[in-house]
Amino acid sequence: MPYGLDIWGDDNFFISDGKVNINTKSSPSLLEITEEVRKKGIRGPLLLRFPHLVVKQIDKLYAHFNRAIRENSYTGSFNAVFPLKVNHYPQLVDTIVDYGRKYGYGLEAGSKAELVIAMAKTPIGSPITVNGFKDLEMVTLGFIAAQIGHDITLTIEGLGELESIIEVASSCKMKIPNIGIRIRLHSSGSGAWAKSAGVDAKFGLTATELLEAIELLRKHSMLDRFTMLHFHIGSQMEEITPLKKALREAGNIYAELKMMGTDNLRSINIGGGLAIEYAQHASMRLRNYSIDEFTNDVVFLLREIMDAKSVEHPDIFTESGRFIAASHAVLIAPVLELFSHDYQEHSLKFKSVNPPLIEELRDLNRLLNTKNSIEYLHDALDHMESLFTLFDLGYIDLQDRSNAEILVHQIIKKSLYLSQNNPTPELEKLQERLQERYLVNSSFFQSIPDYWGLGQHFPVMPLDRLDLPAIRAASLWDITCDSDGEIQFQPNAPLYLHDIDLDKEEYFLAFFNVGAYQETLGMNHNLFTHPNVCTVTIDDSGFEIVQTDESENILSILKNTGYDDSEILNRLKNNLLESPFTTEKEKNDTLQKLELYLHQNGYLRTTN
Ligand SMILES: *Cc1c(COP(=O)(O)O)cnc(C)c1O
Repeated sequence: MPYGLDIWGDDNFFISDGKVNINTKSSPSLLEITEEVRKKGIRGPLLLRFPHLVVKQIDKLYAHFNRAIRENSYTGSFNAVFPLKVNHYPQLVDTIVDYGRKYGYGLEAGSKAELVIAMAKTPIGSPITVNGFKDLEMVTLGFIAAQIGHDITLTIEGLGELESIIEVASSCKMKIPNIGIRIRLHSSGSGAWAKSAGVDAKFGLTATELLEAIELLRKHSMLDRFTMLHFHIGSQMEEITPLKKALREAGNIYAELKMMGTDNLRSINIGGGLAIEYAQHASMRLRNYSIDEFTNDVVFLLREIMDAKSVEHPDIFTESGRFIAASHAVLIAPVLELFSHDYQEHSLKFKSVNPPLIEELRDLNRLLNTKNSIEYLHDALDHMESLFTLFDLGYIDLQDRSNAEILVHQIIKKSLYLSQNNPTPELEKLQERLQERYLVNSSFFQSIPDYWGLGQHFPVMPLDRLDLPAIRAASLWDITCDSDGEIQFQPNAPLYLHDIDLDKEEYFLAFFNVGAYQETLGMNHNLFTHPNVCTVTIDDSGFEIVQTDESENILSILKNTGYDDSEILNRLKNNLLESPFTTEKEKNDTLQKLELYLHQNGYLRTTN
């Protein structure tokens, strides 16, 4: 399927009539949704959220674990929490909480602000887990949550945190939260995010510290609060082997602890890490396992370890975030410009008498066909070299040179088009050298920061023309003034896009699987802030844009950066009023323009 949709798409989209459609109910196309949003005057990049895709992932997670539990006659239960750091935004969190209620799906927090969201949003009875470094205040917040009636587990990352819990418990009469212990595994994770496990990991207790923690709890008569063992081997776990190793290690620690008399210990929390497929080319596939395999391995291994040591099967908790959130958001960015746009046939300006080589290029361009395309292409490239030499020596002028460049580009484009079904290595190389640069109205630093920070690829494809050949080797440029805001053409994983005349038609690119981590990691480089965000629901009769959060206007960007926005506006207005205009009308019009521009978002508006 074009653009590797079958590799990364998970049946969420399909192509029909040359357009990307959403594979649910009335299956609207991304293009018609985009057009509907733009009808409201909204310009610039657009992030579309699809709650039905969150629902799908939640269902999938529970269905697979529960199936594995049945098939393995496992006696523990399956439970999950959504880690807020993956995406904090209320539009998503509300969907998760509302839909997840029937499963008892809870939230995971790693900071005080996240904990406050979890306390306010998690239904009483659904679990809250708290990871990350905690001070006395954060621990106290955990006690308040327990007092309110939440099923909350504070997972300690070090002995100091356990001491804080003991201190708060002895200084107040509030309910004591459940205590989880994160263990430091000797087996480490894999991939770019692997620093979460292993002997040099940032988090977790060593075996010695674990034994000390148990002693400490026993001494303070709080061992009954210890209910959960936790590990997390890193995000985007692309191979299954490290997980299996971690499970064996953690499973055995769990069984040992049970045999030491930790009677209320009943859960093992395997953290997150379930990977998403971001590759667009079969040879670049990232993930080597399916959700089937993943859930089977977890349940089977835990059962095996517990049965061998005659320990009851623990309840299983997961904190998968990327798996739940990544697919629900699609970034849509208008293409503003093709850099070789100047090489259009209509820009040719021939003279009454042209240099002979130019006349020959004209003939080559006119007579090019499937049979002769390679030969003519070689001739054209040859002529171009000669024409450049003639120019350097002063024998042809700038107009001749411009005509030569346009003609050669036309010939190259046409021969690429004519030989698209059997490209020679030479043509492929040429394509790579002559790649087209597409300028997209978006900031990669804001909207796909993991591309900038980690070189992570996100699937990209145009919204329409998918029934037409795409033969331009494409590199993508964002509108920041930073040369890192470029996604280069990669010969081993090529991206080909359409040749379009943006004066006549619109062209939109969609970046997929951007729903996890990108929004919160995104940064305001060049003061480009978040894109326009719309939540879209789809039913049998159509779609509805149920929520819109427009990209910030320039004045509010400045305000949030610490400037006095009204002072800036007034100063500019006063400067303008004092400047000499020829007519009063021009002055007023300019004033109006200034006000309007400052109340629009900071993205470009040139193509509507
Ligand atoms: C980040 C994190 C997660 C989520 O990981 P995903 O790869 O998004 O599933 C889960 N648990 C902990 C402790 C984390 O730090």
